[in-house]
Amino acid sequence: MTPPFPPTGRYAPSPTGALHLGNLRTALAAWAFARSRGGRFLLRIEDIDTPRVQAGCEREQLRDLQALGIDWDGEPLRQSGRTSLYAEYTRRALEAGAAYPCFCSRKDIQLALSAPHAEEGTAAYPGTCRDLDAAEVARRLGEGRRHSLRLRVDRAPATFADGFAEEAPPPLAASGDFVIRRADGLFAYQLACAVDDALSGVTEVLRGDDLLDSGARQAWLLRCLGLPVPSYYHIPLMMDSGGGRLSKRAGSDDLSAYLAAGVDATAVRSYLAWTLGQCGPGERLTPAELASRFRLEAIPRTPAIFRVEDLRMFTGK
Ligand code: GLU
Repeated sequence: MTPPFPPTGRYAPSPTGALHLGNLRTALAAWAFARSRGGRFLLRIEDIDTPRVQAGCEREQLRDLQALGIDWDGEPLRQSGRTSLYAEYTRRALEAGAAYPCFCSRKDIQLALSAPHAEEGTAAYPGTCRDLDAAEVARRLGEGRRHSLRLRVDRAPATFADGFAEEAPPPLAASGDFVIRRADGLFAYQLACAVDDALSGVTEVLRGDDLLDSGARQAWLLRCLGLPVPSYYHIPLMMDSGGGRLSKRAGSDDLSAYLAAGVDATAVRSYLAWTLGQCGPGERLTPAELASRFRLEAIPRTPAIFRVEDLRMFTGK
């Protein structure tokens, strides 16, 4: 059956630091996957976690994506302008009984609130506030008690089918009901990301497998809200040569450092495409060539290892 919409992919960076080569690799894969089938590609700036946003970062991220030949349809969507929409979907989740106020202290919940990649699944929330009786909830709310909002996962399916990752994430029940609005009033990544994907008509989310747990959460959240659920494809990340994660927080080299050192954008694009299994060593690809030959199945099942000598094979010198 032909899907009703063209495939629609997206890249959704948080402007909290320069994109490192691993981020750019994922962006390139998401872009080529959509474009290889004549699909649309959207860009969304996930600037909702305002304390972590860095001034000027968004501009640099867009510049780096464009330098690699990644283009997008329409204007980038900026989450910071969409809080009334997130409030509306939060209200719907509460009304449907899918979410509830949680009065547990910040200390109990801090792990679940931090960056999307930070230790997800390690902070099992015991469900303390899930079944508080309505009068008690009303009393606490009346007192103005600080609270977050959590989504119930007790009726969530035990399994999550990913379009790429073979290993299933742990069942949602293992980490417990998750936060959709933080106690400081900011909407959580899970809510903003899932709602935006659904409302923008995103049909496929291709991203790093550090977000596999989030895929299960977001799919469940969208089901609770009666919104369309995209297909998810979580691919292995790129690691440093010690097997550690590249991290913009740890200051891994960003694209501008390589460009300044004389490595051209085609070399970086082609090197990343090679690590994604899309071309041979030293083969230089234009963006159009990459998009026309892209095959999801060719992406290696194990993490890519960044080695600067491999990148040099693509400089054409
Ligand atoms: N904004 C998140 C990040 O930069 C990724 C969100 C996503 O792709 O779902 O890590």
